[in-house]
Amino acid sequence: MSATPDGPTGAGHGAAAGWSAADVEPVVCCLCGEPGAPLYEQAPFAVVRCPRCALVFVSPRLTAEALQRLYDEPAYFDDTVYGTSRWSPAMLLQRTWTAGRLALLAAQVPPPARLLEIGSGYGHFLAAARDAGYQARGIELSRTGVAHARDRLGLDVFAGQLADDPNPEPADVVCFWDTLEHVPDPLAFLTQVRQRMSGPDALAALSVPSFASLPARALRSRWWTLKPEQHIWHFTPDTLRVLAARAGLVITRVVTSPVAPGNAGRLDSLVALARPLPDDPAPGGEAR
Ligand SMILES: [Zn+2]
Repeated sequence: MSATPDGPTGAGHGAAAGWSAADVEPVVCCLCGEPGAPLYEQAPFAVVRCPRCALVFVSPRLTAEALQRLYDEPAYFDDTVYGTSRWSPAMLLQRTWTAGRLALLAAQVPPPARLLEIGSGYGHFLAAARDAGYQARGIELSRTGVAHARDRLGLDVFAGQLADDPNPEPADVVCFWDTLEHVPDPLAFLTQVRQRMSGPDALAALSVPSFASLPARALRSRWWTLKPEQHIWHFTPDTLRVLAARAGLVITRVVTSPVAPGNAGRLDSLVALARPLPDDPAPGGEAR
């Protein structure tokens, strides 16, 4: 469930073809429990906005079973940068993001810290993190991605959900690139991320499509990154901050520039860094 390239080369409009009403279910805002108000109809899906907190999400959306079928498809990765040649423009961009993101992380939590990547895909970022000196470990839902990361790159990757990780050791850096928009419950997910962070100096790092970006605002229902099967939550810097706070995290940096190396060429995405909020009331927390 890792990085799908957020660009016009992706699944595109009309990707809803092939799903029926039996594959979808309505959901409510993960923060407020409210049903959303319609923004765009993309039958059998709809993009909606919470009337209370303004979080944007897909409802109806694919059921958990239908979603797992999607991620189990070997073809899920076929239209992504991973299927293309090493020197393609997309792969060069991928390497630029990797280097830029590693530089962002290393400036705050340098190697040999423990780095956990959730949604590690084929393992390209994880391998680069390991080669930079991090103690790198991954979690990935796609069996195709896990097999590649383990067998070709020799990486330590758990195949499954974060909550089912049999080896839930703390990590000094927890990163999840282009993943939060895919998870069934982002509040539960970020809360689990917070629990995995090793202490007050640990760092979380993520990227997501930005619903506040110019392409999202200008293209509306034709925005190429809507992809309502896969992108079931949409964030702005503001809604991301609210969500993070509810999970015990404070966003310390947001990168939206498409010329920043960690976000290179991405007109409609953001990269964010977060720290644990102090005085976390969670039992067993490391609050001082
Ligand atoms: Zn809400």
